[in-house]
Amino acid sequence: MSSQSSMSRFVVKIILLAPLALSACSAGESQPAAGEAASFAQTMTVAELKKMPKIDAHAHVIGVEGGDEAAFFEVLKRHKIKWLTIATIGTNWDGMQKEIDTAVRLLPRHSGFLAWSTSFNLENWNEQDWLRQALKQIEDGFDRGAVAVKVWKEIGMVLKDPDSSYVMIDDPRFDPIFKLIETRNKTLIAHIGEPRSCWLPLEEMTDNDRAYFAGHPQYHAYLHPEIPGYWEQINARDRVLAAHPDLRVVGAHLGSLEWDVDSLARRLELYPNFAVDMGARICHLQVQDRRKVRDFIIKYQDRLLYGTDLLVDAYDKQYDLPALLSKMELTYDADYRYFATGQQITVPGGNGPFHGLALPREVLVKIFYENARRWFPGIGITDCS
Ligand SMILES: [Zn+2]
Repeated sequence: MSSQSSMSRFVVKIILLAPLALSACSAGESQPAAGEAASFAQTMTVAELKKMPKIDAHAHVIGVEGGDEAAFFEVLKRHKIKWLTIATIGTNWDGMQKEIDTAVRLLPRHSGFLAWSTSFNLENWNEQDWLRQALKQIEDGFDRGAVAVKVWKEIGMVLKDPDSSYVMIDDPRFDPIFKLIETRNKTLIAHIGEPRSCWLPLEEMTDNDRAYFAGHPQYHAYLHPEIPGYWEQINARDRVLAAHPDLRVVGAHLGSLEWDVDSLARRLELYPNFAVDMGARICHLQVQDRRKVRDFIIKYQDRLLYGTDLLVDAYDKQYDLPALLSKMELTYDADYRYFATGQQITVPGGNGPFHGLALPREVLVKIFYENARRWFPGIGITDCS
């Protein structure tokens, strides 16, 4: 994201902090073949899932106000879904403070539908006072209700020391921050690395990843061979999980292991302190073997958090609130169908058709609600009145 401070008009737009494969999803109408019916039988209707309290554990409210604020929260109320809005991008501290200020302003009025995660400044990384300020910024966030602290892919892919070496997430200079989060019983949200496609040429990516990296060449690591590789990012994150076994970590975007549930399962086995959100990566599940994905979700039903990466940016010049609201409706409805029913779903761009997962009721309750409540203590209940 660039700075939006010069925008005078109040704007909202869906912009992406990561590839939003989910955005390409749409649901078809056809039913499974007769012989498959038993394995595709739904255990909760879309209407029941819609009525159930839920948490979108990965979303961003940069800004929303006035009449737009009411319309936005009305959609969350209709879907009985609370947003965990995640302040992001420490190398754009001014921009991030907009998201922090918005969360702090909205929280008292909308605590039934909003919770927030804070972060810290990285613009001053090479200054002596960086750590003291970062710890204070995090403490301030906790004091104002933040339930988590986010670290973003800039660590490992952008942030550099004066000698031009990249700063990785397992750098011991971050240890006091991890210690503080652990001591305060908060959660670290770690978006470290990118989809594996980021290190591939455009023609070798899935369609959904290609659209993002074609539009964001600055984040396309294949074009920047000096950026540490995919496994360097994953391994650095894994070393943090191993070195801080009492630090609760939610890996954003399926922990950047979106391409293979087996690789993700290995980390979930190795690191009991690790869970992942699905933000912007549900389509990556949809293109893997259905039975394998279903078995994976059932096996790790306590470690997976529903999330979308939807974003409201009131300062963006391309503000379009009606488009955002209809995007929210489409996204949630498509996801309900994917997780709860065995309906056939198609994704424009060549992925699919595939069938929904028809997950057991208790698994749906966990991934849409209970896991977020457990992995983010203090996130509160969703208002279902
Ligand atoms: Zn995000």
